[in-house]
Amino acid sequence: MFRIGFGYDVHRLVEGRDLILGGVRIPHALGLMGHSDADVLTHAVMDAILGALGKGDIGRHFPDTDPAYRGADSLLLLKQVVAWMRQERFVVNNLDTTLVAERPRISPHIPP
Ligand SMILES: [Zn+2]
Repeated sequence: MFRIGFGYDVHRLVEGRDLILGGVRIPHALGLMGHSDADVLTHAVMDAILGALGKGDIGRHFPDTDPAYRGADSLLLLKQVVAWMRQERFVVNNLDTTLVAERPRISPHIPP
């Protein structure tokens, strides 16, 4: 049996925050606003996995009202989601993501 999940997330660019995408800190004048590290790419991946598992979305599991997730490293939250996925004996077979941003240019930060 296989399942398909679709994740989507949006964060506003603001001054005074780091820009972290997929766990990579990208030098830029603006960063993403959010309760955690606001890693929008990782959040979308987490949402897709949770959706495929039928477990709701990241807001349900990691609410932005919980101080425990203030400034949280989203890769650690993703590890938790992957652990839940493995408990149900699923694996990620394929993953495709789309990042929408006018700037900064992301291509220099993608490994060849
Ligand atoms: Zn998010």
